[in-house]
Amino acid sequence: MVKVRKFLCKFGIHKWSRKTYIDYGPTSNVKTWRRYCKICGKRQSWVQAKGDKKGFRRK
Ligand SMILES: [Zn+2]
Repeated sequence: MVKVRKFLCKFGIHKWSRKTYIDYGPTSNVKTWRRYCKICGKRQSWVQAKGDKKGFRRK
């Protein structure tokens, strides 16, 4: 099973943790989201504008 999961990671299909975000306070109009892969440990972070309800930009 683990083998299969690592295989998926190779193709960019990661098992992401729950997202957490850093809010820089009311003076900032963006916040930074972070998450990591539970299998390979890859980290990902991205910035989201506050008030943007379209969702998250994935890269
Ligand atoms: Zn992974």
